[in-house]
Amino acid sequence: MRYSAWNVFKEGLKEQRGWKPAWRSPDPQQSYDVIVIGGGGHGLATAYYLAKSFGITRVAVLEKGWIGGGNSGRNTTAIRSNYYYRASARMYEHSLKLYEGLSKELNYNVMFSQRGMISLAHSLHDLELVNRQMNAMRLNGVDAETLSPAEIGRRVPILDISPAARFPVLGGLIQKRAGTARHDAVVWGYARAADALGVDIIQNCEVTGFQRGPDGAVTGVETSRGRIASRKIGVAVAGHSSRLAEMAGFRLPITSYALQAFVSEPLKPVLDTVILSPATGVYMSQSDKGGLVIGGGLDLYPSYAQRGNMPVMSNVLGAVAAQYPSLGRVRLLRHWAGIVDVVPDSSPIIGASPVPGLFLDCAWGTGGFKAIPVGGTMLAHQLATLNPHPLAKPFSLDRFTTGALIDEAAGSGIAH
Ligand SMILES: Cc1cc2nc3c(=O)[nH]c(=O)nc-3n(C[C@H](O)[C@H](O)[C@H](O)COP(=O)(O)OP(=O)(O)OC[C@H]3O[C@@H](n4cnc5c(N)ncnc54)[C@H](O)[C@@H]3O)c2cc1C
Repeated sequence: MRYSAWNVFKEGLKEQRGWKPAWRSPDPQQSYDVIVIGGGGHGLATAYYLAKSFGITRVAVLEKGWIGGGNSGRNTTAIRSNYYYRASARMYEHSLKLYEGLSKELNYNVMFSQRGMISLAHSLHDLELVNRQMNAMRLNGVDAETLSPAEIGRRVPILDISPAARFPVLGGLIQKRAGTARHDAVVWGYARAADALGVDIIQNCEVTGFQRGPDGAVTGVETSRGRIASRKIGVAVAGHSSRLAEMAGFRLPITSYALQAFVSEPLKPVLDTVILSPATGVYMSQSDKGGLVIGGGLDLYPSYAQRGNMPVMSNVLGAVAAQYPSLGRVRLLRHWAGIVDVVPDSSPIIGASPVPGLFLDCAWGTGGFKAIPVGGTMLAHQLATLNPHPLAKPFSLDRFTTGALIDEAAGSGIAH
């Protein structure tokens, strides 16, 4: 049943008893045309676009836990396309445009809010980067404006912009079309829409190995719920990509780190944009419930632990207290971590793996929530046509042997 005001009204007359579960819970079939491993945003979006754009509906999404239980349900939901290199800008801008129409496309309110994102400059060096990035973004057709300290102060009154501030504010960059979306809603929206097109979403189904034919190509997967055959398999498991690659017998240039985030007690509206301080790594937005959603840089200690720790907490919250003194006594509600997959050039890997029939969508590091629509589009294209999507070509795995890296950490200062 479509979600609409009319149907809510109609169901209201029947005590809302007519709604069906948003997706089925089928048992795995013996074989599928395509298997997608990972029930995060990328895996579910891949399944949706396979069904919608290519008519391939014999598709299974295999998720070891529950959908959205990985990074897609643990992230701080910043969506932007403020990258430096043309290849990145084209890809992330495409994603942002897909987000702009996503609620309508999926008939599911993903609560996309284009409240803008401001990056602060705390030094002359930062200011130079801000100007360079604004020029690059504009050349790439992406909206960007610089802001003076006074303009930033007007937009974010809780930020300390006084000259004596611990982190002085010399200016900033705003992408007005950037913003946030509700993370669960993005996952659930894609899941519901994929299910409606016939995709099987199978939770509590961990992939434990790959089956290969005499030519080395994949023929299926071994799972905690038995063997499932398929000659086309997509892997979208974020921080677990290296483990899946190891099962398939190859290595990826990925290091896995825990990235942490925090949510405060609900406050009255105090912040109506996303604000990032690249020098301290701290960024913040306010959720519709009122909680301040706070993120920081990576804990640069490789780990698979999905939990926070005190050293990172004290760094991030110390910077928050210094930059926003009025928040010094706000209490935290929750603190958690997700495992992110980071490569040396801080750009994703999309396309063929060394194993025939096995395709990758990974290495989004700390920034793949914003890329869910485009990641799904590109992996679906690869799986359906066996050719890379035009936007994905620069992001193939072989760039680590050819040397054609897209170093966004150096280019845009976006660490991952
Ligand atoms: C704290 C934090 C903040 C972040 N903030 C932002 C942000 O503001 N903006 C942004 O754009 N990005 C952000 N990110 C990054 C973003 O969350 C990820 O890049 C994105 O969610 C990755 O989506 P995914 O679908 O690839 O992976 P996930 O959502 O992690 O999904 C992968 C799924 O694969 C499953 N899986 C793993 N192994 C197996 C197996 N063997 N068999 C079956 N299933 C398996 C996992 O259980 C998981 O559900 C953040 C990440 C974190 C951790």
